[in-house]
Parts: sequence; structure tokens; C-alpha cells
Amino acid sequence: MRVIIGLEIHCQLATESKLFCKDSTLPAEPNTNVCPICLGFPGYKPKVNKKAIDYGIMVALALNCKINKSMFFSRKSYFYPDMPKNYQITQYEIPLAIDGFLEVGDSKIRIKRIHLEEDPGKLVHVGGDITSAKYVLVDYNRAGVPLLEIVTEPDFTSPKQVREFLEKLSSILEHLGVYDSSREASLRVDANISLEGGERIEIKNISGFADVEKALSYEIVRQKGLLRMNVKVERETRHYDAERKITKSLRKKEYEEDYGYIFDPDLPKIEITDSWIEQIKEKMPELPDERVKRFVKVYSLPEIQARVLIYTDKYLADFFEECCKIYENPLEVSKWIITYLLKSLNWHHMSIRQSSIKPKEFVELLELIDNGIITERYAKELIKEYVDTGISPKKIVEKKLIRLDDFQLEKIVEEVIRENSEAVEDFKRGETKAIEFLIGRVLIKTNKQADPKRIREILLKKI
Ligand code: ADP
Ligand code: MG
Repeated sequence: MRVIIGLEIHCQLATESKLFCKDSTLPAEPNTNVCPICLGFPGYKPKVNKKAIDYGIMVALALNCKINKSMFFSRKSYFYPDMPKNYQITQYEIPLAIDGFLEVGDSKIRIKRIHLEEDPGKLVHVGGDITSAKYVLVDYNRAGVPLLEIVTEPDFTSPKQVREFLEKLSSILEHLGVYDSSREASLRVDANISLEGGERIEIKNISGFADVEKALSYEIVRQKGLLRMNVKVERETRHYDAERKITKSLRKKEYEEDYGYIFDPDLPKIEITDSWIEQIKEKMPELPDERVKRFVKVYSLPEIQARVLIYTDKYLADFFEECCKIYENPLEVSKWIITYLLKSLNWHHMSIRQSSIKPKEFVELLELIDNGIITERYAKELIKEYVDTGISPKKIVEKKLIRLDDFQLEKIVEEVIRENSEAVEDFKRGETKAIEFLIGRVLIKTNKQADPKRIREILLKKI
């Protein structure tokens, strides 16, 4: 049975101020980032934030879209407590851009349209979810935050492909610097899905990529079950319950015509000139796919490793590059990041940016191995401790070295001299290499927790 999926993705743009007023978009106490414009007081007129349009154009270019020369905003009327004006300013008839695509693996997912709109306020459902809450609180801080809506054609054939697409899209948005993935629900997805022979249903407002994949997988099973029993799948809007991992019916699908769109008379038509687009093109940063190619070429990384570094999180790739500036072996850096650092971060559900890991300190770990002060096996433990505590590897090792004080070390050295009289004699006869052997013995006995230089000093004194 053929599965058809299309997405509507809402990305919160990381501008400093809102789309139509000067209020901050940063997290704050509920209902403090508000003003008469975003609260919809009569007589207060919106003004467009140019930065939001710039960001929209950047995304449109990155997704290979055609950009419309004239920009209009429209009012989408509806009555709901998250929308104080009873209409949302959005774009409908003429979106910012149309007809793009993004490649995922071997498939090309077509982008139908990209448009700018204001986010509604946030509803906080207390004592349950949207279908079961005891009461609802409203926070208008979010009202008016710029959203970029990206609508795809129904080109996806599996939930897994959807997830790959979203990960790639998120990485592109991060590289463009237009959104902050660490902010709560900064990317929200409405997923439309139909099975051959059935109507499509829409699952609204899912914020994690793993949840999008799970919600869609659940829907496939549910819709298959219905179709098998000859029950018609009707067009409707559903909600994903992340705790119970199921979707629930919200309402019969409303149609776009129901919203009575009109052009917003408060806002002027804006011309998007070629020179405006050219200026933005010139400033476009390197995108993830180009970056993968560069990592392979410049750092000689296998492509698969470059992909992990770049698509896991832009800041992980940045971290890798910072490390390579101070440590000359990129393959080692990549290996230690991907195999061990990522594991520890994931275990804490932490991104590199949320952790206190620093390139300089991380590289110390590799240097400790190179200098024979710690073994690779111990280094793996050390990474965990570093992520857990934020104390640098070098400091952790130094603390352990100090713990073994001179008195203890002298006793171990004496032991080694007693047990290896032959090597001691060799050294006395002038075979200077024998001292290295003795240092090695001491290191083994101290679990490599002693400073080789100090061991040498004590040995020379005792022999
Ligand atoms: P509407 O105007 O009714 O919202 P759109 O054409 O804008 O419809 O499509 C909305 C979303 O639904 C798009 O993401 C699109 O890819 C998706 N979609 C359209 N047809 C189907 C289908 N048959 N099955 C699944 N998704 C679909
Ligand atoms: Mg639509």
C-alpha cells in the first residue's frame, strides 16, 4: 500500500524583535514581551521587520525556490484564544517563494511554497493535553514572533525519509543562522499523510523529529487497519500524544477557504528587487552539503564521518574545526568526537553547545595520550568524567598525579629497584636505556598515574 506524506514546517526565525513590532523574541516571564501591536489593540499599525524578510530570502535561496518580486501580507481570520486580533497576519495568495526542492539521499523533495507569518500566542494546557486539560493559560510573548512556513509537495514515501529531510533542513537553517535549534519548539511540523485509497489526515504541531517519525508510523498502522476493515479514512486533523505515542482526533479538517483571507490593508506591498536578492546571495554562508565536501577535501575525513559531524549539529562541526586549528591530526579528532564524546553527550541528552566542553581542553586529552601519560582506555573514561563534571582532562589527570605523593612514589621506586636488580646493574654499567625500562615498571605499578619526569628524578637519586 503506497504511503503519501507532505509536510508543513513552521520555523521560528531567530530575529531579535518580532515580525511587526519591536518586542523581544527572547524567552521571558509570560506576557511581558508584549505591546499594543502584537496584542492587537485597535489603531496600532504593524511594521515589517526587514531582517525576517532577509532570513526568508536566505532560506528560499538555500531551498532552490523562485522568489516573488512583490511581497504581500494577508489576514487569516479565525477565533481562538491564542490570537488576540482574531486574525493572523500571514501570506496566502502570493507567498514569499515557490517551486523549490531539497535532495535527501537519492530523492528530490519538492518545496511548494515558503511564506512568512506571525506566530500566535502559546496556550499552556494545565492538567492534561489539548484534549484533556483542566484549564488553559495563554502567553502572548510568542504572539508576533516571525515564523517561516515551508510547505512541501506530498513527495515523501516513508516516515524515515521525513526524519532525514527534517534533520537536513534543520542543519541548513542552522548554517544559515536563521534559527536557534536549542529553543523550545523552534521547529514545528504539521504532517499530512494518506494511504492509497484513503483521504489524507493532518497531524498538527509536532515538535521533535523523532516524534514526527513515530506519529507517522502510528498513523500508517491505524489507517491500514481502517482500510482493511473497509472503513473510510475521512479528512481530519489529529493531535500526537507523545506520552502515549498515539494520535487522537481533534476536529474535522477545515478548508483554507473557511478563513476568509483578505490582503492586510495595514501593510504596504514590498518590492523584492534583484539587487536585494543579489546582496543576500553574496552573504550566503557555506551550506551543509558543501561543508561535507570541504571536510573530505581539507581534513581527509571519510564522507560518513563528515556527515555525522555536520548533520548531528552545526556546532559539533564548528567544534571539530576549532580542535583542528590547535591539533594537527583531524582523523584522530573526528574519531574521538564521534566515537566517544558524542556517546557521553547523548547519554546526558546534551548538545555540544549545552555542555561545557571546550576545544582547547578536549585536545589536551589527545595530547595526554600522545605523550604516553594516559592510555587510550583511560582516555575513554576521562571523556565521561570531563562531560560529567566539566573539569578539563588535564586537571583531572593532574589531580590524580598529585594524589600519589612523593613518599608513596619513592616506595614504589624502591620496590622496582629491588625487583629489577639486573636492569639497575646495566644502568650502572652505563646502559642508559635501562632507566627507561625502570620508569616503565614504575608507571605500570602506579597505573600510569605518576609523572614520568618525577619518576626519573627519584630513580636517579636512589640508584
Ligand atoms: P490545503 O490547501 O488543503 O492545505 P495544500 O495543497 O496546501 O492543501 O497541502 C497541504 C499539505 O498537504 C502539503 O504539505 C501537501 O504536501 C500535503 N498533501 C497534499 N496532498 C496529500 C496527500 N494526498 N497525502 C498526503 N499529504 C498530502
Ligand atoms: Mg495549507
